[in-house]
Amino acid sequence: MNTAVPQTEDAGAAASAGPTDTLGTSAAQARSAVLEELIRKDPGRFRVLTGDRPTGRLHLGHFFGTLHNRVRLQELGVELFVVIADYQVLTDRDVADNLLQHVEELVLDYLAIGVDPARSTIFTHGAVPALNQLMLPFLSLVSVSELNRNPTVKDEISHSRQSAVSGLMFTYPVHQAADILFCKANLVPVGQDQLPHLELTRTVARRFNDRYGAGSAVFPQPDALLSSAPLLLGTDGTKMSKSRNNAITLAATADETARLVKGAKTDSERHISYDPATRPEVSSLLLLAALCQGRSPEQVAADIGSAGAAALKKVVTESVNEYLAPIRARRAEYGQDRAHLRAVLSEGNERARAVADATLAEVRAAMNTCY
Ligand code: ATP
Ligand code: MG
Repeated sequence: MNTAVPQTEDAGAAASAGPTDTLGTSAAQARSAVLEELIRKDPGRFRVLTGDRPTGRLHLGHFFGTLHNRVRLQELGVELFVVIADYQVLTDRDVADNLLQHVEELVLDYLAIGVDPARSTIFTHGAVPALNQLMLPFLSLVSVSELNRNPTVKDEISHSRQSAVSGLMFTYPVHQAADILFCKANLVPVGQDQLPHLELTRTVARRFNDRYGAGSAVFPQPDALLSSAPLLLGTDGTKMSKSRNNAITLAATADETARLVKGAKTDSERHISYDPATRPEVSSLLLLAALCQGRSPEQVAADIGSAGAAALKKVVTESVNEYLAPIRARRAEYGQDRAHLRAVLSEGNERARAVADATLAEVRAAMNTCY
């Protein structure tokens, strides 16, 4: 497979907001709009890497935060790599419970939403030794204080199930840099929590090129691509997350969905309005219904008006169930054939290993460690 660096330098020049390394969410969104334009013009120059931890089934936060974008980009002709980050499960727990089952469930979710294994590569990073070997030189390129001040890692530590914080928790963003850079991806569709990690990946790429590139770029500096729902909230009003017991999964039944939405946190104001800053829970529900309906959250809010939270929840439930019905049907169908899921993974792992071997060979040559 071709491992040439796809360049996005003119994307950087065109972005009025400046380089991604110094951006917050709103600036990253502005840059995403610029990137969308470039993708439309020439999808062939982009390569995407994104992924998920095999810690449970995928949920609506994943769907509208990143999954929808992955399939859309695939359909536009962008090359897509999807990593199932099995080592990353161990960042905030001692044991990776039911790993095989979770891995298969992720493959099932991917197939159900439309990731096509004939065109896209689905793999587990644990099965790609050369990818993991990139972690060592990459670790040497970042400082302990840089790792220490990562806000996403801090948030995850506060929600962690472990009494002591592991070294992997602090260093997994560097592992993620290896996930992205092993295939020289230049575009990473992610949720808001991933922006600090993307910034670190860009730093690693830049420092590697500066230190070992002898004037040429071994790695691209990848861009984050944010969707219009970079942080969907769960039923408790915090980030919807597999590990926080607050998620509505793609695989949930219509009845489960109704029950979960009914229990979602709202506020005491009866009139329904869209205001993410002052009414985050109500606004996140409105956004969810709006995304399912293909309308704006303000329009959905205007429809509900003074009918209150119960009416809002009814609209959300109906919209989600209608939107997910075909995905859920496909998921049930693919679930009949577990051997196929394993075959998809095994083929993806093989493809990823070939790409990683080629990149590692290049890295070793650049570092002068070919013996
Ligand atoms: P865990 O609780 O195990 O960390 P998670 O729900 O946070 O699970 P990840 O596997 O860590 O999911 O994240 C995978 C991808 O989905 C990342 O790109 C992340 O930004 C995105 N994502 C996860 N949750 C949300 C959310 N609530 N809103 C938008 N994007 C999200
Ligand atoms: Mg997470």
